[in-house]
Amino acid sequence: MQSIFYDRANDLAHALQLGAQPGARYVAGGTNLIDLMKGDVEHPVRLVDINRIGLDQIAGLPDGGLRIGALARNSDMAWHPLVRQRYPLLSQALLAGASPQLRNMATAGGNLLQRTRCPYFTDTAFEHCNKRAPGSGCGALQGYQRMHAVLGVSGACIAVHPSDMAVALAALDAVVVAALAGGERRIAMADFHRLPGDTPQFDTTLERGEMITAIDLPPPRFGQHVHYLKLRDRASYAFALVSVAVALEMDGATVRAGQVALGGVAHKPWRVAAAEALLAGQPLNNERSRQFAARVMEGAHGYPDNQFKIQLAQRAIVRALDTAARGERT
Ligand code: SF4
Repeated sequence: MQSIFYDRANDLAHALQLGAQPGARYVAGGTNLIDLMKGDVEHPVRLVDINRIGLDQIAGLPDGGLRIGALARNSDMAWHPLVRQRYPLLSQALLAGASPQLRNMATAGGNLLQRTRCPYFTDTAFEHCNKRAPGSGCGALQGYQRMHAVLGVSGACIAVHPSDMAVALAALDAVVVAALAGGERRIAMADFHRLPGDTPQFDTTLERGEMITAIDLPPPRFGQHVHYLKLRDRASYAFALVSVAVALEMDGATVRAGQVALGGVAHKPWRVAAAEALLAGQPLNNERSRQFAARVMEGAHGYPDNQFKIQLAQRAIVRALDTAARGERT
């Protein structure tokens, strides 16, 4: 049996001091980390409980944007009046994830840091997983890949990131605010999660001991022209086979700007700037949506069990673009 030290931090400075110790991990909702500890996948030496350090507020920023404290619960975010009115895409994505009970516990910061649900990672009966045991191989490559990535993969790992919230945040150009004892820095969502490369054990660009303190959203500009489409094996409490977060700035029937992120297809939310340029200043029709979808999925590589995702994603993109352009509430 392994001993675990438990510390409760009083404030941010105290938490960062405790979190700098070897083997320390921050815990708040614990909806993913504790599960992984029970499954013998994660082995922290020290748990630093950050539930009492504040950082759970959701409030407007002077520039018209929104700051979401890292400890805001997923339910509180999803139903917050400012989120529902100004960022309905985020609310839709949050409500598409997990279950009400989990959303009541899970935090904004923890949602970004949740780990892949690749079964070869979460079940230690499987020997080969480079993410869990670097250098051991990838069980999924020769195994079952229905839920796995088709974009940004490497020979070391083909896992996907499981978060719905992160996909919406990527489409909305959110910024992650992170703190170390030396100070604070801001990380664009595009730079926060990593592709697996040769080091799939690292999911994000956070440094050891660094803590997410907030997520900032820029001023809203998409109105109701947003849509989060999640396709999954059952209607609730399931991870995405493919998800699409669309945010359109419309000028009548013309797209002034379009921001689209995909989930369920890569190790991070997937956005393609060159594809988004195809939408800017153009009327949206089925032909343009198909061109856009094809451009987003360029370079996709399927495996025997998930080849279907490439076409599924393109169809999902077309449908999500159409729904967002019409500004329908869902
Ligand atoms: Fe492990 Fe990644 Fe391979 Fe899954 S896909 S078995 S997480 S290395």
